[in-house]
Amino acid sequence: MKITDILQSKRATLSFEVFPPRTGLKFEEVQSVVAKIAKLEPDFMSVTYGAMGNGAREFTLAVAKEVKANGVTPLAHLTCIDSDKDDVEKKIAAFCENGIENVLALRGDIPADFEGFREYKHASDLVEELARDGHFCVGGACYPEGHPDSPTLFADIENLKRKVDAGCSFLTTQMFFDNDTFYSFLSKCRDNRIYVPIIAGIMPVTNGSQIKRSVALSGGILPNKFRRIIDRFGDDPVAMRQAGIAYATDQIIDLYANGITAVHVYSMNKPDVAAAIRSNLSGII
Ligand code: FAD
Repeated sequence: MKITDILQSKRATLSFEVFPPRTGLKFEEVQSVVAKIAKLEPDFMSVTYGAMGNGAREFTLAVAKEVKANGVTPLAHLTCIDSDKDDVEKKIAAFCENGIENVLALRGDIPADFEGFREYKHASDLVEELARDGHFCVGGACYPEGHPDSPTLFADIENLKRKVDAGCSFLTTQMFFDNDTFYSFLSKCRDNRIYVPIIAGIMPVTNGSQIKRSVALSGGILPNKFRRIIDRFGDDPVAMRQAGIAYATDQIIDLYANGITAVHVYSMNKPDVAAAIRSNLSGII
């Protein structure tokens, strides 16, 4: 089923993310993760695509097939920055042959040893290619605090409009920890004539030091309320897990209460965390 049809047919959706193993040796572990998360009956499950030189990218399709075999709609990610047209055409053909209907089209991060663009410069180049014959429902990434390569949020939203015009039918946000940032971004997108559904990406943080590092890298902002939680519980894994799940649940309930209908959880191959969030929302969705 196409993700746009799922989003249209329900009052509130909840989806989860998994990432593929780096080697075939860990495939069974990921299979088990997929089966456990699929049992929670999410509206769809996304499968990431490894960064450059990361063996995981070989397994995105295999994991997406696993998701489908477990009765859940998969969303396969694909990046293009270090790919040639030939590589991409092969991937697209393999998605088609295996009944994958939804693809999140991404540029990918620019690696430290980057030697210059090849055939793709922006995600919109890939979006255009994927959307061309109408087989795929194509999604794109967006950044409520602005993408770190962009000089301003406004410039980033102008580029986002180009990506949507190239054929994106929906967008998923980067994680954010302050819902007001998301509401303000949403209104700026609508003002800039971006009308496709925007799925709110929520990360349940269960490891304090890891999140401080990744937020520093992405240029994001941690609200004081959340920073205090990390400062207080970050060194205690049990407490941090509980507080991180509670904070994410609180964000999700606030989103639904404010009329946001689509939430995606960066569940990071943690079925127990996904299950805890699903259970916290059992009376709501
Ligand atoms: P783009 O849309 O190309 O944007 C990148 C930058 O270029 C932005 O600053 C934008 O403003 C600018 N830009 C875009 N178009 C133009 C234009 N026409 N002219 C000038 N400037 C332009 N990475 C992975 O490796 N694997 C994954 O599976 C993965 N999944 C992700 C899922 C989500 C929901 C998100 C939010 C990110 C994900 N990423 C993933 C990370 C992503 O690859 C990086 O954030 C990357 O740096 C940008 O990718 P993009 O698709 O947003 O790029």
